[in-house]
Amino acid sequence: HVDVPEDHPRYESLLTRHRIEAGVDRGITSRQGLIAQGRGEAFDYLLGERTTESADEAERVAAAHLLLADHAVLSVNGNVAALAPEETVTLAEATGADIEVNLFNRTAERMQAIVDHLREHGATEVKGLAADARIPGLSHERGKVDADGIHDADVVLVPLEDGDRAEALAAMGKTELVVDLNPGSRSARTATVPIVDNIVRALPNMTAHARELADIDEATLREVVEDFDAERALDDAEREIRSGSFE
Ligand code: ATP
Ligand code: MG
Repeated sequence: HVDVPEDHPRYESLLTRHRIEAGVDRGITSRQGLIAQGRGEAFDYLLGERTTESADEAERVAAAHLLLADHAVLSVNGNVAALAPEETVTLAEATGADIEVNLFNRTAERMQAIVDHLREHGATEVKGLAADARIPGLSHERGKVDADGIHDADVVLVPLEDGDRAEALAAMGKTELVVDLNPGSRSARTATVPIVDNIVRALPNMTAHARELADIDEATLREVVEDFDAERALDDAEREIRSGSFE
């Protein structure tokens, strides 16, 4: 339990940090996850802890990709599970995507803890435990995925993903939607759609966009997707960081 005064300038950030701590205590998040969170916080601070106009556009495009997909999968790691379990389930429902737990440091205990945690937050089916397929080019443990999940997907959302894995998934020809606050990260640079925003803001905003786009015809959705320029989105984020004023 933490008491963060609501008028604290870093209120949201401190709450988010507490969720990661609780995730570690519950065996959902790894200790490396704490370090990843610290990196993310630093970039979020530089971006003004808000969804930029450019990130909002990327979130709309990502939502369109999820709606257009034959088989979309939302990949969940220990940080995502701790920070936004309900938001993940809601996005999956709004887009018809599957949810798959996929860990960089895979242990049977952590896999199960995350699956249970997602079920407690309303997920009905959670993939990842079968681990009966591999991502080519990665070591045995790192490459484990479900044959009827990420392996089969044409569109994958990989938040806070490790650079090697992001590259290996792209090499499989998948449309990759990456949420990563660092626009210089290999994961962001590999993405079809880099979303430079905090996962806690990105997921609900993608859901809102998905609901707005749900009744739109396929041709228009394809236009939304084709008009997107990933390089420009990364440049926008970098410019926001450089021009930021610090409070
Ligand atoms: P590289 O991409 O250079 O290979 P890496 O992916 O191995 O590095 P990590 O620290 O494991 O490096 O990656 C975590 C990434 O997730 C960082 O780029 C960090 O900015 C980002 N990140 C951390 N927390 C969040 C968050 N809450 N929302 C969005 N992105 C986040
Ligand atoms: Mg990275």
